[in-house]
Amino acid sequence: MPRPVEEKPASEGLAQHPPGPPPTTRFAPSPTGYMHLGHAYSALVSWRVARETGGRFYLRIEDIERRRCRPTFEQAIYQDLAWLGIDWDGPVRRQSEHLASYTEALEELSRLGAIYPCFCIDAEVRAEIKRAGAAPHGSEGPHYPGTCRDLGRQEQNRRIRAGKAHALRIDVRKAGTLAGPLTWTDRKAGRVEADVLAVGDVIMAGRDVATSYHLAVTLDDHHQGVTLVTRGWDLFGATHLHRVLQALLGLRTPIYHHHPMITDPNGLRLAKRNRAVTLRGLRNARKSPEDVRRMIGLE
Ligand code: GLU
Repeated sequence: MPRPVEEKPASEGLAQHPPGPPPTTRFAPSPTGYMHLGHAYSALVSWRVARETGGRFYLRIEDIERRRCRPTFEQAIYQDLAWLGIDWDGPVRRQSEHLASYTEALEELSRLGAIYPCFCIDAEVRAEIKRAGAAPHGSEGPHYPGTCRDLGRQEQNRRIRAGKAHALRIDVRKAGTLAGPLTWTDRKAGRVEADVLAVGDVIMAGRDVATSYHLAVTLDDHHQGVTLVTRGWDLFGATHLHRVLQALLGLRTPIYHHHPMITDPNGLRLAKRNRAVTLRGLRNARKSPEDVRRMIGLE
């Protein structure tokens, strides 16, 4: 059985919300598998904050990773959330329907000189491109060494004209310099200085990947007017990059609540690939939504 988390329910975060309009929160699952207890936790924390304050709660389907997304999983998200008693405001935003806005942002980053084409095609880079559409839960391995960073405009153009396949990477040094010193706020960690160098020159788009998770999530939170991003602690590091993207693209900066992860009895993060306890598995085993809430410490 999963370990209950130590954190108190959403009302704890509620007390810390700054004065002003009630928050707009969101839950942004990817339809690449059935939702498990970790998703239930994230969705409930976010939904409760909105409902307890008269704020808004949006649902976003993060389906840019076409290779792994399935309509069955998307339907299951709607059913599982409804079973948990979670409702959402306004229409659901599906990322696959907004590809033009990501392309526009990539053009702007390119105009600023904050991204560069990377022509590397070794196995490591190919794997990196493949997973660029997904949120980086956990370590992403060593940073890209910057092989293509300083090729120069002429050489870049020559290779592009020659039809060489390439991906687009953020130049974190350049992006950090352009943006200047930045901070962001996490409800637990408080004021955090954005350290974009810690993220490395990650992929922003590539073959078969119209946009990376990082770019899509940052733009969508802005477009949906999200003021409180509630998501797992494992994405804390990614927020440094999201903050810099906000500065470069003129987007609003929400407050963040990186909540603890639900783990299995061995302390490992629940993940779809581990065949973690899915909500539908629990439902089939005749567990109730109340049972689920109890299991994750949110009764
Ligand atoms: N689609 C991402 C996931 O399922 C969402 C991460 C986020 O909330 O920023 O992990």
